[in-house]
Amino acid sequence: MKSGFFPWRIFWKFYLTLIVLLNLSFVAALFAATVLGDFSLADPRLPAIFGLFLIVTLGISALAAYRVAAPLKRVILKALRLAHKKRDLNIDESAKDEDLFEYQPGEYYELEQALDQIRRKMKKRRIQLAHEREESQALMSFLADAVVSVDCDERVKFFNSSFAKHFLSSEQIKTSNEGGPGLKLIDIFRDDEVLFKIRQVKKDGLVQTLQKRLSTKIDPTGRYFSIIITPLREEKTREIYASLVLFHDITEYHLAEQIRVEFVENASHELRTPLTSIKGFVTTALDDAQAGRFDLMSSFLKTISKNVDRLSVLVNDLLTISSLESSGVLNLENIEPQEITEEVMERLSPLASNKDIMMKATYNRGAFRGDYRLLDQVLTNLVGNAIKYIPTGGRIEILWSTDPGTDIVRLTVKDNGPGIAEEHLHRLFERFYRVDKARSRDVGGTGLGLAIVKHVVQSHGGQISVRSELGRGSEFIAHFPDRL
Ligand code: ADP
Repeated sequence: MKSGFFPWRIFWKFYLTLIVLLNLSFVAALFAATVLGDFSLADPRLPAIFGLFLIVTLGISALAAYRVAAPLKRVILKALRLAHKKRDLNIDESAKDEDLFEYQPGEYYELEQALDQIRRKMKKRRIQLAHEREESQALMSFLADAVVSVDCDERVKFFNSSFAKHFLSSEQIKTSNEGGPGLKLIDIFRDDEVLFKIRQVKKDGLVQTLQKRLSTKIDPTGRYFSIIITPLREEKTREIYASLVLFHDITEYHLAEQIRVEFVENASHELRTPLTSIKGFVTTALDDAQAGRFDLMSSFLKTISKNVDRLSVLVNDLLTISSLESSGVLNLENIEPQEITEEVMERLSPLASNKDIMMKATYNRGAFRGDYRLLDQVLTNLVGNAIKYIPTGGRIEILWSTDPGTDIVRLTVKDNGPGIAEEHLHRLFERFYRVDKARSRDVGGTGLGLAIVKHVVQSHGGQISVRSELGRGSEFIAHFPDRL
């Protein structure tokens, strides 16, 4: 055995007890010999007999005490090792004492066997627990949701990396890594509703859910979370010892839902305006027809026809948006910039010549891969807008080029029209966004043209931007990779 431990306490106790007992029995034997026999205490041999007896007693007691204590050393060491308490007895922990566990039947064989069995079981359980901890930590760190567990004093017991990313400052992470009493939840967020629900869970043990916008480290303006709070209970007593709080980020879903609601509202509104007008003029025309008045009929029918056209354009744009969103599949083919541009210009030339607008195209780019029908729509909307919004006699320039040093296709549509004020630029590509509603409707706009352009360019893996200044014309630039 390599450790320097020996159960001296047991040894000495046993040793001294034996000496006392043996000496007492010596005294008793002496007394009996004196009373019953003819031995006298004045016998001159007494000191020699006693001295001899004492020496024999000391030797026998030491041997007997050693025989008891020595095998106990193994048992005690095993028990201490089980309890991880060797340090308490100043035993060298680094000392390898595998020999303790060799098969070597000793005096306390059954006890040792039981201790060995407990040790094996504990070792197995420890490995199992370490694996479970490792697995759950890995799982938690892979989880996109933020998870935190909070004890009954509202101190953080555990959190995953996503929680740290969203809610903890580097200072707080450092504090919690140092151990100690743990962070107070109230120092992390001061949202009364969340804290109230956590307390409620602790009180009544029922799972609580809520949706909340919380400011986070990543997004101080706030992100929407669906929050679930579950009580954690002791296995045996079922007593609540902590709560587990899960934050599921639903910001994207929330925004998409908001956009969808706004879209339906806007679309209904856009559809209702021409429909109300049609209904009004049809009623008036009917009344006039019944009264035999036909002088305004042609004007009524013209207005009705204009509104029907508007409806038709709007429905077409809505269908385009819907098909872009639902399919997302591109029909790729070789596109010759000159061919597609000339086709669009030819189609729009009657509108351009009505306003005496000059269109000019430059081709500094060869063929590339893209979806012909969709890119035709991009050109039609950009050039169509320029024709709609620039004054008579204006000029439109279309330029196809390649971004220097890349394979990125760049399409620029530039006009010398009224331009767009800066405050509108960041919202220009939103659905139904118009700078001047009345003017847009007047020229047959739906507010969807640029949203469609953005969608198509993005589905080609590209981006659209605008440069404009009031009174200095507008320039729309689309760039997207050649999808070879
Ligand atoms: P609309 O159908 O109203 O034209 P768009 O989405 O195509 O809708 O355009 C959004 C708004 O951007 C328009 O209402 C218009 O105010 C502005 N706009 C677009 N193109 C131009 C342009 N070339 N010059 C000035 N304003 C423009």
